[in-house]
Amino acid sequence: MLSDIRPCKLAGNCYFVGTYKASSHMIDTGDGLILIDVGYRETADVVIDSLSILGYDVKDVKIILLSHGHGDHSDGVPGIVARSGAKVYMFEQDNRYLKGFLPDVYLHDGDVIKLGNTEILCLHTPGHTEGTASYFFYTEENGKKLRVGTYGGAGHKQVMKPFLDKYGLTYLQRGMFYRSIERLRGEHVDVFMGNHSWHNKTREKSEMIAAGCEGNPFIDETLWGKFLDATEAHLDKVIADETVSEFVTYAHRGASEYCPENTMLSFYTGVYMGANGIETDVRRTKDGVLVLFHDKTPERVCGEGLTREISDYTWEELRELNVVKGELSDKIIRFDDFLEHFAHRDLTFAIELKAAGIEGEVAELIRKYDMVKKAVVTSFQIDYIRNIKAYAPELRVGLLTKEINDETVADLVAMRADEYCPQAKYVTKEQVTRLHREGFRVRAWGVTNEELMRNAVDCGCDGMTVNFPDKLVAYRKERVTKA
Ligand SMILES: [Zn+2]
Repeated sequence: MLSDIRPCKLAGNCYFVGTYKASSHMIDTGDGLILIDVGYRETADVVIDSLSILGYDVKDVKIILLSHGHGDHSDGVPGIVARSGAKVYMFEQDNRYLKGFLPDVYLHDGDVIKLGNTEILCLHTPGHTEGTASYFFYTEENGKKLRVGTYGGAGHKQVMKPFLDKYGLTYLQRGMFYRSIERLRGEHVDVFMGNHSWHNKTREKSEMIAAGCEGNPFIDETLWGKFLDATEAHLDKVIADETVSEFVTYAHRGASEYCPENTMLSFYTGVYMGANGIETDVRRTKDGVLVLFHDKTPERVCGEGLTREISDYTWEELRELNVVKGELSDKIIRFDDFLEHFAHRDLTFAIELKAAGIEGEVAELIRKYDMVKKAVVTSFQIDYIRNIKAYAPELRVGLLTKEINDETVADLVAMRADEYCPQAKYVTKEQVTRLHREGFRVRAWGVTNEELMRNAVDCGCDGMTVNFPDKLVAYRKERVTKA
């Protein structure tokens, strides 16, 4: 089968043997061939035929290096291995994507693969996937030593919210992506080997060579830096776009500016006003019932003198109380009643842990109501979210905190928290950008007035909890209209 890109030499002992959609490169080491990526299952024969057009035999392939586990780079492996007996190398983190085989050798960052006259440096450059690998080696052409390099995965779709949510991946992969780009800037590359043919215009250059152009169009030491710049700029853009398209307006304890907080009335009003998220607080009664209540005691919202702590009330006793806001009142509700009414809705839920020891129960209810992908569990207590993450690693968690500092960032990265929640009055554009570059979603809290609300939107937060969701919805509409 003929490829839609004419097989050609990239430089020295390195050749293109892939297709337009899926690059595949071969290195002739003098003691066997190395393939970097093999493309789709259906195009394994194209790779084999491209090798023979160049005068090589697939039987001589000894090593297959995979840039990452996605099918467009790896599905052809069984077809090539069956004909060659080649050993497959990849980072273990990408096993989840492979179909019908596992690697023979797992790579480690900084490994050097030696075969014949070639030594390939393998760097772990996660972002596009958890186990993306980038490869570098020297070749020689016309007596000149040239460094060939490939960036093993630069596509952004895989770090956008719909994809991360669908596959239960952490937002922190965005942070890894940025760090990988930064690290790759330190590599010198004379010949940029595209992981997809459009990265380095393989087809055009192959045609130029076939037409007998002067010099080698693949040798261009500026291309690598330009590609990294473009990749970074694109990443910035998709994240910035998402702060608009995926923004979450959380009705904070419901529409609590207008209704008795954390009640059905308040939650329904928030949804009616256009909130696409609900924030609420969970505590436990003396007899072990999880209820939605913010304060330690009912006094502020249920009436003076009610100074016993919620944890000293039974559920029967709490049911007797009324939560009041102006002329309105409603009942305290159980967490499971809330879930019964709201979990099925297309909303995002911010569930704040207000007491120790309830992490396991809260996690179980989130699982039971099938809302793992639409809930974020938060707390001001870093231990609570650490506990729930240990209990249910698949849950997204976030820390409510005042300011943004290095220590907290490091703690949250270490526990794989997805959300950083600074107090609205400390939110600046620089800080939000910095948190995005670490990989966090940024959600502001303590939005006590409209000025803070507008500032948090303008600074690029991904969402905020607000007592007056109607005003936030209106402001965001107005912004879109203006833009
Ligand atoms: Zn991929």
